[in-house]
Amino acid sequence: MSQKGGARALLRALRSVLAGAADERAGAGAGETGRGRKGQQRLDTIVRLVASNLVAEVCSIYLKRDPRTLELCATRGLRPESVHAVRLRVGQGLVGRIAERAEPLATEDAQSTPGFRYLPETGEERFRSFVGVPIQRLGEVMGVLVVQNEAARTYTEDEIEALETVAMVIAEMAEAGAFMGSDGMTAAGRRVGPVMIAGTAASDGVVEGVVHLHEPRLVLFQPIAEDVGAERRRLGGAMEALRGEIDGMVHDGSGLGLEHREVIEVYRMFAYDKGWLRRLEEAVESGLSAEVAVEKTQSEARARMERSADPYLRERLHDLDDLAHRLIRHLIGDDHDRPELPENAVLVARALGAAELIGNAGRIRAVVLEEGSVSGHAAIVARALAIPMVVQAERITRDANAGDRVVVDGETGRVHLRPDDDVAGAFREKIALVEQAREVYRTLVGKPATSRDGTTIRLRMNAGIRSDLPSLGRSGADGVGLFRTELQFMIRRSLPLRDEQSALYGHVLDMAEGREVVFRTLDIGSDKILPYINRRDEPNPAMGWRAIRVGLDRPHLFRMQLQALIRGANGRPLSVMFPMVSEAWEFYAARDLLLGEADRLERLGHPRPQPLRIGFMLETPSLAHAPDRLFREADFVSVGGNDLMQFFFAADRENERVRRRYEALSLPFLDLLGSIAGRCAALGVSLSFCGEAAGRPLEAVALAALGYRELSMRPAAIGPVKQMIREVDLGEVRAVLDEARAAEAVSARPALQEWSEERGLPV
Ligand code: PEP
Ligand code: MG
Repeated sequence: MSQKGGARALLRALRSVLAGAADERAGAGAGETGRGRKGQQRLDTIVRLVASNLVAEVCSIYLKRDPRTLELCATRGLRPESVHAVRLRVGQGLVGRIAERAEPLATEDAQSTPGFRYLPETGEERFRSFVGVPIQRLGEVMGVLVVQNEAARTYTEDEIEALETVAMVIAEMAEAGAFMGSDGMTAAGRRVGPVMIAGTAASDGVVEGVVHLHEPRLVLFQPIAEDVGAERRRLGGAMEALRGEIDGMVHDGSGLGLEHREVIEVYRMFAYDKGWLRRLEEAVESGLSAEVAVEKTQSEARARMERSADPYLRERLHDLDDLAHRLIRHLIGDDHDRPELPENAVLVARALGAAELIGNAGRIRAVVLEEGSVSGHAAIVARALAIPMVVQAERITRDANAGDRVVVDGETGRVHLRPDDDVAGAFREKIALVEQAREVYRTLVGKPATSRDGTTIRLRMNAGIRSDLPSLGRSGADGVGLFRTELQFMIRRSLPLRDEQSALYGHVLDMAEGREVVFRTLDIGSDKILPYINRRDEPNPAMGWRAIRVGLDRPHLFRMQLQALIRGANGRPLSVMFPMVSEAWEFYAARDLLLGEADRLERLGHPRPQPLRIGFMLETPSLAHAPDRLFREADFVSVGGNDLMQFFFAADRENERVRRRYEALSLPFLDLLGSIAGRCAALGVSLSFCGEAAGRPLEAVALAALGYRELSMRPAAIGPVKQMIREVDLGEVRAVLDEARAAEAVSARPALQEWSEERGLPV
């Protein structure tokens, strides 16, 4: 039997099994039990059909009960009582290995194959030959389909291919819920009912809302083609539409940066790749619907590319995924467009760019990401906008369904999907408590952050986009200590023109009503990518071509921003600082450009900012050792603790695996910060700290104790930090730090925590 013939005959037989499933989903409405029984019947029918088609004594389906456990859900040939009784860990035995590696495995002699594990409950000892294929969808293994024979038998490539095709259909049916309820089974490993996911807190606040999937899950109801010819024509039509779309992108993108054009060219190369089309057509010939053919081909390409040693090829996987997704959308048509954001939307995504968050701010109550990082820019933006965020929430995109109720705790990092009444009730209490605390902070607005020993700390806020500005009044911030100008650039598709930039800066100064705003010039590079600026992939972007390095190498772009700042100030006071200065000359060069623009514009009749204050960010350890002249010539210094810490500990702030090992309260880091404060005081330059640590009460009082008199933080942190400062004596904090140092502690955190607990301080 030829491969296509074999697969096609099997699929024809399967189609009748599926027909019932489609009716049910259309609302023909079996109750829970009825649906469970039908789900089981479908599984039983599939194993019977496969066994007879492949002339095998055994066919079994194992589906994931949870992410790590496989359960025997149907069998033809093994003991019936073992169904739903036998469970395996992923990785265990041959079946577990297939699930783990997402690769087929065939052997003539299962018992002597390494990793074999005999399951006595099933009575499988009689069966020598074994072939299993993963049941997977979009790279996610949902289960394993197995065929066994008594005699030694070599399974042909065609048979394995036919099994993979059937496995594809099973995966689609599982995704569409066709087996739902068979003895409580979920859609193959996806959990139903209440689920708690412990992620990492990235932006605080507790919120109850409704799940909105950023990338809606596509459910394909017709995995098997009714008419192969018609399906071939649908595929051809969609492919043409896809190519048209990509050609359009190439055309529209002619004004884009090189990097962006290269990506589109790669898309075009894939879209016109004959091999891809041939594999898609073959999958359709085997009897699959065009959509499932795309998924099958994509799963195979994914497996090939993931195994490849070529990093370029592995990187392209994402592009190919995107292309396959686009092709499926062309097949499904427009009626499957993205659903609207529901009210109280909690955005659930694998990863999210800062721009996407800014674009939807105001309509999102919280964000939960499967990947992401606490110090990434999406998290910084979330904190700036006071949107609670949890990152590293494992499997959230798999376990959450659009419309599910969800509670997000941005303080502990816990996410409760479909919470039961007790959990939801407890969170409502917590939400009420947070509201009470906010009430207290509101009473502090207008009061100074003066410690018990009489030291006043100036608390300012970090900002970067228009929607931050209303927080200036609400939070009681004494101006903006860090305005991240690049955020405005990041949310755009093209470079904002000078006039647009100056209008924004002018508007920010208007909103500040005379309070100081410290504008930081563009800090792009690293994870802050502008699609319209040429960029090369760099092995170490955080230490690569970024921030002031880009500014000085691209003076045209840099000067345009400096002009916009001067024009926006329109004669008012203007404070400008340069990011990531590593050597003194970079500051002098940037300052000279700024002063040169101020002179030039003055000659052209534009009022000169009065005063024009120019400073630098201290974000690299080298700068802490720069000559005195640098400090004397700057009007102010602002310590960028986020970057300074990553370079001090050589630990990438974007990398969750290493980031958490080091912390701002470690004594060597505090000593560095203390010595910077000492130098600035001795040289008479004003100093502030604008990293994330400034917004945490314990860190904030430690910084104050080290001599920092200005702290800039996200607006929501001002209340808690002010409350803390007002209750401490900085002399006591210094004593705690000295004791920790004398005790040769690694970090001052335990000592500070103990001290604050003894004092009953509001940490
Ligand atoms: C810092 O590095 O501490 C900082 C404030 O800048 P950013 O987080 O934008 O790099
Ligand atoms: Mg920085």
